[in-house]
Amino acid sequence: MNTENNVPCEVSRKKVVGLLPCSGACNVGMLTTKCVTQMAQKHDNINFVCSLGIPLGIEGIVSNAKKSEYYVAINGCKVGCSSKALESINILPDNEIIVTEDIGIQKNKNYSDENGLESLVSKLETLINTAL
Ligand code: SF4
Repeated sequence: MNTENNVPCEVSRKKVVGLLPCSGACNVGMLTTKCVTQMAQKHDNINFVCSLGIPLGIEGIVSNAKKSEYYVAINGCKVGCSSKALESINILPDNEIIVTEDIGIQKNKNYSDENGLESLVSKLETLINTAL
């Protein structure tokens, strides 16, 4: 592995974890972004990946996504946009979360609704710690 291309991992030498929030326009979509933001602020091995740029073929985003060594797609709902975005470049997520199913939060249009955020962060932390 060329560590020069993996800045988040230079210091810690932990695996680079690619987190893909779906960032959907609803409470559960917003939760995925908020959750990944918290994780990126807390851990130095998180690669925050813009899911939308992947299927659009945005070179810098695809190349950034590919620096990850472990992938978690975080989907607001069963439509699974983040998982599908990753699969569009032939990468299967090592793990995925569906907020409506795994956290039990119903989808609504209140973008400020943070109900379930703490549980989502906690689930993601556990999942990553168990997997790596
Ligand atoms: S996974 Fe669901 S909440 Fe997220 S962007 Fe897709 S449709 Fe919207």
